[in-house]
Amino acid sequence: MTNPQAVIALLGGTFDPIHLGHLRSAQELKEVLAADELKFIPCHRPPHRASPGVSSQQRLAMVELAIAGLDGLSVDDRELQRDQLSYTIDTLIALRREYGEQVVLCWLMGVDAFNHLDSWHRWQELLDYAHIIVMARPEASLVTQGPVAELLARHKVASPSQLLQQASGRVLLQTLTPYPISATAIRQALSQGQPVSQYLPDTVLDYIEQHQLYRSE
Ligand code: ATP
Repeated sequence: MTNPQAVIALLGGTFDPIHLGHLRSAQELKEVLAADELKFIPCHRPPHRASPGVSSQQRLAMVELAIAGLDGLSVDDRELQRDQLSYTIDTLIALRREYGEQVVLCWLMGVDAFNHLDSWHRWQELLDYAHIIVMARPEASLVTQGPVAELLARHKVASPSQLLQQASGRVLLQTLTPYPISATAIRQALSQGQPVSQYLPDTVLDYIEQHQLYRSE
């Protein structure tokens, strides 16, 4: 049974492949939020991009390897179990039902993803189920106009302690140590035979080599 005041951080993504930008940013946020647990939630069929060249099971396997042995980190494969488009709203509704009303749920996302939030299915309901934590990324700046900027203006709080006063409904912009790494750049480098070992956990790189992934785009 989860403590009613528990804080659960959630990082959804394609993880194609998972890299140190995901891992380190999420771990840093886990500290900032004093979260009890950080769950990685790989997306099965991303609504916003073409299906990746690597299978969902392989992306899941890489996430499992990346977090193996790391305390308080886990992977939730529910989006792979649902054989349909992976909508975050469905995941958050299910998690809220499981954890109950008191547990603080924090959905983490990079600023690049947040800027396009209004294209997500039932995006205005996301805050009914979780907070949103926007991770600054060096290569992207925050939208200043339009529906997402308006949502931010209505729900923004200035600090993690303000956020943690309720279980959902607020947005926090959090500056983290910048890790200017993207999965796109890693896939591109791998397809050109360039070194990527500084961007990935060793276990993930071994898996990519063993299964000959990302050899060409
Ligand atoms: P791609 O280049 O394939 O789009 P990505 O790493 O940006 O890859 P996802 O795997 O879907 O895409 O990322 C999951 C989440 O992690 C997204 O919200 C994304 O913004 C965030 N994220 C990815 N890389 C970083 C990074 N280096 N620093 C902070 N956040 C990141």
